Amino acid sequence: MPNKPPRVGASDASKAWDHGRRESRHARGYGYQWEKLRAQVMKRDNFLCQTCWRAKPQRITLAKEVDHKKPKAKGGTDDLENLEAICVPCHRDKSARDQGKVLRTRPRPVGLDGWPIED
Ligand SMILES: [Zn+2]
Repeated sequence: MPNKPPRVGASDASKAWDHGRRESRHARGYGYQWEKLRAQVMKRDNFLCQTCWRAKPQRITLAKEVDHKKPKAKGGTDDLENLEAICVPCHRDKSARDQGKVLRTRPRPVGLDGWPIED
């Protein structure tokens, strides 16, 4: 066996986690109220990704997040009507689109020998 990483005590690990959490939660809006709202939306949407649900063909995907249909940056609110359950890949796609990024599948570059080049 190669040398194992040093064992991290439970208290150290939780401290590290807590630190990261505080850093990323600078947005005050995502506190207790949000957790409550989030739970409400999840329950209403049956814990299923609504984007997948509306897709054709329909997909049934467990939602992991709650999304603002109209982004808060564009004046969207925390109203239940503006929130829906969403899965991680859909959320990532949507956030990218909201930021004006165009997601497209890149054509795979092909080498002179006709085989795709891995990057
Ligand atoms: Zn989805």
